[in-house]
Amino acid sequence: MKLPFMPLRFYNTLTQQVQPFEPLDGPGPGTTVRMYTCGPTVYDFAHIGNFRTFVFYDLLRRWLRADGYKLDHVMNITDVDDKIIRNAVAQGKSLGEYTDIYTKAFLDDCATLRLERPERIARATEHIPQMAAAIHKLEEHGFTYRSDGSVYFRIGKFPEYGKLSHNDFSGMVSGARVDVDEYEKSDARDFALWKAPKEGEFAWDTEIGPGRPGWHIECSVMAIQYLGSTLDIHAGGIDLVFPHHENEIAQSECLTGKPFSRFWVHSEFLLVDGQKMSKSLGNFYTLRDLFGRGFTPESVRYLLASVPYRKGLNFTFDGLKSAQTAIERLRNFKFRLDSAKLPEGVNETLITQATAAVAEFRSAMDDDLNTAEALGAVFEFLRHANTALDAGEFHTGNLDSARRLLALFDSVFDVLNPTAQTGGLSEEEVEQLIAARAAAKKSRDFARADQIRKELTEKGIVLEDTKDGVRWKRKS
Ligand code: AMP
Ligand code: ZN
Repeated sequence: MKLPFMPLRFYNTLTQQVQPFEPLDGPGPGTTVRMYTCGPTVYDFAHIGNFRTFVFYDLLRRWLRADGYKLDHVMNITDVDDKIIRNAVAQGKSLGEYTDIYTKAFLDDCATLRLERPERIARATEHIPQMAAAIHKLEEHGFTYRSDGSVYFRIGKFPEYGKLSHNDFSGMVSGARVDVDEYEKSDARDFALWKAPKEGEFAWDTEIGPGRPGWHIECSVMAIQYLGSTLDIHAGGIDLVFPHHENEIAQSECLTGKPFSRFWVHSEFLLVDGQKMSKSLGNFYTLRDLFGRGFTPESVRYLLASVPYRKGLNFTFDGLKSAQTAIERLRNFKFRLDSAKLPEGVNETLITQATAAVAEFRSAMDDDLNTAEALGAVFEFLRHANTALDAGEFHTGNLDSARRLLALFDSVFDVLNPTAQTGGLSEEEVEQLIAARAAAKKSRDFARADQIRKELTEKGIVLEDTKDGVRWKRKS
């Protein structure tokens, strides 16, 4: 199938349209994309609902690069907020002692899920003077007012308030204010930029007085500091559109007078029985929970990546098992390519099919990261190629194009190489592979025997050939 050329495009929450992606410095390749993504609040272990959003950031990064862009990506760590302060005080810990535990766990989990590290990770508490300076500037320009030592942003001063969440806030009550960071859309109010110290709480001494920053100002200040007044992409989970991102826009645009971000992209929720997976509902799983049940990091990654980010994704254990099965199919195919004895020559039909699959994969990903369609192209080719392999019609000349498709797939999905420690092979699977290796040796197919041994080693299984047969153990 010949596909018409369509550029990379994303659904922009700001315009409510799918638009061709064009960074401030012009289209790629070679242009650096300035991207800011809202990171975790480190008050507890992140759950896989959170990780749906972080996997989405990773896909975004990887696909921008596949399209020739360079990246300057900043992600924040919110290491001060109401919950953190409450928990740290209750445990008699300093803020840093408390948040370090969850920051480390988060970064470890990201690495386990193969999430690329942003170019910069910015902790809120390391930018307090800059936040105070920004609030001071907003005060000087009349966008704020004070009450009991706290500083509030007066949303009535920003006529475009509501342009991201597409709400008409014209009927809002002037001067009504809110101190908590998260609140309902129907409840648009002046929000706290700076919170006065409370008895027994942590506070910073700054040029605007003692206290601590509100959540929204953190992101505006760190984004502008590292990426400039106008970002190319700002991303987050869909729940951040209001109030967090709406408030970020108001503060930032009042500070700089420039549009804050060209593209706003938001990922939908991971759901459980139709409800958002969340700490408060108690319907969540952490990665540790899932690994404890024998699932691999790759199957979690694949599951979270396989549904396009703007569709809700219902989490089930069956879904996770299907992800594992899909990965096995892909790995088996790769294994066949690496080990099968192929006839010389080339199967032209299969070359055409591989080329089409690459084009379809690219065009699906360019279409607002349609990962489901991209996967469809890969599996369709796998069906053709496996049939050809079975029939002895897959030739040596077909290897390169098939491998190119797998490499493109894995540059985004990154699941083909098993994670060593949690290879997750059951005893039965290990025994089956050992039997297949013995059979290969018997038929003098030593390449295949070696390949199986290598695969087992990669999955953390060590073989020992003894005179009584093969013994195996798991690497500790
Ligand atoms: P938090 O640590 O609560 O600030 O959340 C970190 C990120 O996870 C935010 O971008 C949220 O939008 C996102 N998030 C929270 N719950 C879910 C969920 N069930 N599905 C997808 N993303 C979520
Ligand atoms: Zn943010």
